[in-house]
Amino acid sequence: MQTIVERHPGLTPPDRRAELLREPGFGKVFTDHMAMAWWRDGEWTAPRITPRRPLALDPAAAVLHYAQEIFEGMKAYRTEEGEVLLFRPEVNAKRFARSAERMAMPQVPEALFSAAVEALIRTDRDWIPSGEGSLYLRPFMIATEAFLGVRPATEYLFCVLACPVGAYFKGGAKPVTVWASTTFTRAAAGGTGAAKCGGNYAGSLIAQAEAIRHGCDQVVFLDAAEHRWIEELGGMNVFFLVDGTLITPPLTGTILEGVTRSSLLTLAREEGLKVEERPYDFETLKADAASGRLTEAFACGTAAVVAAIGEVRHAAGAFAIAGGVEGPVTSTLRRRLTDIQRGQAPDPHGWTRRVQL
Ligand SMILES: *Cc1c(COP(=O)(O)O)cnc(C)c1O
Repeated sequence: MQTIVERHPGLTPPDRRAELLREPGFGKVFTDHMAMAWWRDGEWTAPRITPRRPLALDPAAAVLHYAQEIFEGMKAYRTEEGEVLLFRPEVNAKRFARSAERMAMPQVPEALFSAAVEALIRTDRDWIPSGEGSLYLRPFMIATEAFLGVRPATEYLFCVLACPVGAYFKGGAKPVTVWASTTFTRAAAGGTGAAKCGGNYAGSLIAQAEAIRHGCDQVVFLDAAEHRWIEELGGMNVFFLVDGTLITPPLTGTILEGVTRSSLLTLAREEGLKVEERPYDFETLKADAASGRLTEAFACGTAAVVAAIGEVRHAAGAFAIAGGVEGPVTSTLRRRLTDIQRGQAPDPHGWTRRVQL
């Protein structure tokens, strides 16, 4: 696909870039360019790489009023050989298309999605950290039509940003403490829980704030109907190891289907673990943690990859999981996944895609 490249007239000087890359954190440092395509008159323009700059948006743009917005999150890794690898980008493209459909937005064809992402990586390749870091890519789409009536917009912007990132959790793979919210829910049957849309996050921030107030890192949401079944974290899927069986909640429409989740299910089966996608309720979690049947728990997603859960707090108390230390299955699965992502292990499933630089 033809991509127009408008290079930044004032690139970040190499020494300043090196300084920014030393401790980029997460989502704070951005590269010099971005990718954009517009949906007008029922079709997409060709992708265009431009200098990263503020958007000119009409204040009546539909996204600002009715939140027609979706996004993706993926990473590009620099291998020891200096190649750049994306991890299952076609899965992100397909999920973006499903999110678009749910939010009554036009789908971005996979070819356009890939062309935009890869052209941005190529243009800003000097920003890809080596070692532990990676280049986090944030494709998103917003409704730009200036119109206050309530109906799907007719004009959209598809845009991709890139951020060099370090390790998500400062201080390495320290187990996280999660807050089980019984006040707030994230998604209900028939709602938008399975779509990666900003609105889901807006609605979850108050619960995340509640979690932080209780000294927790993340919130774990229970189902909306019974406040009983464990669904997922604010932005990560969740796994439990009970009697040697790896359990993760099933995709019933209220859970976001993570690329990390699906990859870990495959790797766990390869490790010879019994794996079950089935409902698991909070009372059973408490009982299994108390009896010792629950030996590990972890959350997973592109940004943090795999984060052990060491403690669960809730309105009526708190309990530790496996003494609050990361277990061997959690460590093994993280290692197996990150080795493939970084091109340090064979990739029998063809999950990585090399970016032509
Ligand atoms: C993005 C996201 C995940 C994780 O998905 P990955 O593809 O593994 O990054 C999990 N839950 C929610 C709500 C998300 O938005």
